[in-house]
Amino acid sequence: MQDRIMDVSKRRGIAYPSFEIYRGVSGFVDYGPIGSRIKQNIEDLLRRHYVIGEGCFEVQCPTLSPEEVWVASGHVDSFADLMVECNRCHECYRADKLLEEVGVEAEGKPAEEVDALLKERGITCPECKGGFGEPYEYNLMFQTTIGTGKGKRTGYLRPETAQSTYLGFRRLWEYARRKLPFGAIQIGHSFRNEISPRQGMIRLREFNQAEIQFFMDPDDKSAPRFGEVADRKVRITDKDDNVLEMTIGEACERGVIRIPFLAYQLGKALRVFEDMGLDPKRLQLRQHREDERAFYSSDTWDVEFASDSFGRIELVGIADRTDYDLGQHMKHSGEDMKVSLEGRKFIPHVMEVAYGIDRPFYCVLESCFREDDDRTYFSFPKKIAPYTVGVYSLVKKDGVPEKTEEVFGKVREAGFFTFIDHSGSIGKRYARADEIGVPYCITVDYETLEDDSVTVRDRDSKKQDRVLIGELIEYLR
Ligand SMILES: [Zn+2]
Repeated sequence: MQDRIMDVSKRRGIAYPSFEIYRGVSGFVDYGPIGSRIKQNIEDLLRRHYVIGEGCFEVQCPTLSPEEVWVASGHVDSFADLMVECNRCHECYRADKLLEEVGVEAEGKPAEEVDALLKERGITCPECKGGFGEPYEYNLMFQTTIGTGKGKRTGYLRPETAQSTYLGFRRLWEYARRKLPFGAIQIGHSFRNEISPRQGMIRLREFNQAEIQFFMDPDDKSAPRFGEVADRKVRITDKDDNVLEMTIGEACERGVIRIPFLAYQLGKALRVFEDMGLDPKRLQLRQHREDERAFYSSDTWDVEFASDSFGRIELVGIADRTDYDLGQHMKHSGEDMKVSLEGRKFIPHVMEVAYGIDRPFYCVLESCFREDDDRTYFSFPKKIAPYTVGVYSLVKKDGVPEKTEEVFGKVREAGFFTFIDHSGSIGKRYARADEIGVPYCITVDYETLEDDSVTVRDRDSKKQDRVLIGELIEYLR
């Protein structure tokens, strides 16, 4: 499945490995002309849901920050994976991934325990069957320097957008006119120096995120709009690995999901993914186990997608980060992060909704990929499709191309993402449009010159309608 999707993806300008002419470096991806459009649409869909839908403020902060930020956040000390190195060929591996391949969950377990598990299972180097040295911690941040000479400082590329959003908390609090709750969304790049990533777009060293931080009163984590998601039925794996099937409302009532605001955000995320075109039957919720959860978080959940190629993939993480991050930055910077509200003074709690972009992007491709007897196409929802409509001339003579340009101009001026194509047989042009998931194709022919009507072809049904040019824009809308 992944091979067939990646084949179309490379051929049609969707996404492909970076640095190809230098033999490539794993963990990086280029979005091509079509992929960039799709990615933009995914980001815009998130903006519609959170900036418009939830009233969040959008911010954009630097991807590079001085060391102090990451000392305060705890990343310099503990943002690390356990790595093992082969004694014979010196290839390095993530210890928990090696164990995962034999069905042992080891993420977040201490080094001695992981070492014991590796030995107990007799796991050796996948490349050369050599033995491993002791597991050791490997920090995943890319380090660099800012400036030079006397003013030189250590800096890191951010491993998450969240911290840069927290740093501006005082400004945002004023902007929010000193009221809680409010949310701030940041969409942008983050970086993790992953140990030998081998999963295409699923594990990248430079990746795209959309992280939303909701700043809340610790005494009020309610969700006034809970009713909007309460009836959504979903499969849930809880922290003790029990698999349950119930509605979000029931999960909240029975205390499976303890915090109403967190439950609401989980239900909301499911809707967002369906809106993107992900197959609803393949989405599920998973609560982090006690030993896997960050120590400061009181509860963490993921929405996962069951991928044909990669198994269960985490698409968004939703965590109650309590007052930990603002508290840390208050301690390390000396800046007061407390707020005064109704006579109380406290550090706000943060509920984080952390979306990846690249993973949902891949899951959109996987969910929308269709192979019929005679064609391959992506059934992207219209708001995700790279272009809404292609405009074609049936023949290249007798005034038909000129008329086609005229129709193209109308569609373009109406604000649709559109392109014009005069070359190749009409069947080939439809096939090309299908392969990039364009929902509509307009064809101008001899009849158009007589009666001012065009053929509009629907991607999914292949049905063709005859539409008057004067009514075309309304039809497309
Ligand atoms: Zn080896």
